[in-house]
Amino acid sequence: MFIYADNAATTPTSKKVVEAMLPYFTDVYGNPSSLYSVGQKAKEVLEESREKIAQILGASPKEIYFTSGGSEADNQAIISAARIGERNGKKHIVSTAFEHHAVLHTLDALKKEGFEVTLVDVHENGVVDPQEIRDAIREDTALVTVMYVNNEIGTIQPIKEIGEICKEKNVIFHTDAVQAVSHIHINVKEQNIDMLSISAHKFHGPKGVGVLYAKKGIALTNVINGGAQERGKRAGTENLAGIVGMTVALEDAVKNIDCVNERLKGLQDKLIEGLSNIPYSQLNGDREKRITSNVSFCFEGIEGESLLLLLDDKGIAVSSGSACTSGSLDPSHVLLAIGRPHEVAHGSLRLSLAEDITEEEVDYIISAVADVVEYLRGFSPFWGDLITGKRPHIFEEHTVA
Ligand SMILES: *Cc1c(COP(=O)(O)O)cnc(C)c1O
Repeated sequence: MFIYADNAATTPTSKKVVEAMLPYFTDVYGNPSSLYSVGQKAKEVLEESREKIAQILGASPKEIYFTSGGSEADNQAIISAARIGERNGKKHIVSTAFEHHAVLHTLDALKKEGFEVTLVDVHENGVVDPQEIRDAIREDTALVTVMYVNNEIGTIQPIKEIGEICKEKNVIFHTDAVQAVSHIHINVKEQNIDMLSISAHKFHGPKGVGVLYAKKGIALTNVINGGAQERGKRAGTENLAGIVGMTVALEDAVKNIDCVNERLKGLQDKLIEGLSNIPYSQLNGDREKRITSNVSFCFEGIEGESLLLLLDDKGIAVSSGSACTSGSLDPSHVLLAIGRPHEVAHGSLRLSLAEDITEEEVDYIISAVADVVEYLRGFSPFWGDLITGKRPHIFEEHTVA
């Protein structure tokens, strides 16, 4: 048995997507900037892709910029808004503590330049309160950036409401929608989004390609300098095969959102219930305000890394913390942001389900996780302290999910 349950880290590129990409390596290989016909054919396909993606997001094609992925889109969005603010004497940014590192580390870089950053609390349920965003906005706020769906705990943020507040306050609003676009219907105009980032490899497209949507009138700052591609805002010969693949993948993902959600909801419920039966465990993030593919848990008395490796031996690929922090000994900043103490933040498990996961696979995951947790606790000195009462428990023995 092999179950890939780490789709928030990346997804397999679908066969349909690979097939759609192939002609753009060998047949329509022209540079879209070249004037002869194989170049112009490439240009045509590039612009068709832009139109299709714009339509899906409720944007205009001129508001769509192709990038090398979610990280670059986040960087460019935040840097652009910061520069616009700076020109108007505004050097304050509002965000949250559980953003992706592509956002947090860009904010760190701006702090070194003298920007001030307010990170709004995300509460224990992993959801931001729009009122607290409102309260954090100041006269000199240049940007609010809040992710749409958290990549570790799957919680959905009240993006439309936050966007409305930003609109009213005349502050640019960016959302990292990398984990949202294939799970939630997004319309940038209806949801008051000024800038948005997505990445193809999170929805069965290829790696290394993404989109930055920037509302008309927002002057982008280049992060990649060079040629005049992407209306002069992002240099580099366009990754046409990748862009075509991303477009096909996005069309497919968005078309299937409702039926996938309906299918996954029951399996998610089953998984959450099954894992909640493990003593001293707890679901991370709100029970309802989460995407249907995410199940995230903390277990007392275990190390997430060991859990991950033993589950791998049983043929289940999962993550503990985020892919970006695994390998380091720091617990996940997301779990700390929702108030999990260090000891349990280390014992975390993230399952991000594929659309076609079966009930048998869910049953197998539940029993495998239960076995591995029990096994690991068997020789954990920390767990020993908990059961002998030397240390207090953090969670209830049984929680109702
Ligand atoms: C994966 C991810 C990114 C980074 O996207 P890349 O295309 O891998 O650079 C950014 N934000 C979130 C929320 C993600 O999950």
